[in-house]
Amino acid sequence: MITDECIFCKIIKGSIKADIIGETETALAFKDIKPQADTHVLVIPKLHIASTRELNQSNIVYLSEMIFLSNKIADKEGILNSGYRWIVNTGDHGGQTVDHLHLHLLGGRQMLWPPG
Ligand code: AMP
Ligand code: ZN
Repeated sequence: MITDECIFCKIIKGSIKADIIGETETALAFKDIKPQADTHVLVIPKLHIASTRELNQSNIVYLSEMIFLSNKIADKEGILNSGYRWIVNTGDHGGQTVDHLHLHLLGGRQMLWPPG
């Protein structure tokens, strides 16, 4: 299901523009509007799943598709060998600001640990 209010659902529908750089039947990848690294791509399911908390046995396949697409994008962006970081924020303490599941793909620079 796609909702009317969700900003990422709007990107899926095309009613909000995004810099889309890849997609599969069930996942979409576009550039983050506020990039935190040379490569900062968001990979989302083409279904409104609010967060990791809403993952279940029937929709978990969307997550594997997101991961699969993310690796294709990492290859396309030339960061497969140098390395990259996946981040999925959940809820308040996780720092989630958009309530539609999304995988951040970050690369092109040395990542730090621990995260802020
Ligand atoms: P999070 O804080 O994990 O929920 O990440 C949400 C991300 O979505 C942030 O990195 C934002 O910069 C990004 N973002 C919000 N609106 C848009 C948009 N319209 N197009 C692309 N990225 C967006
Ligand atoms: Zn949504």
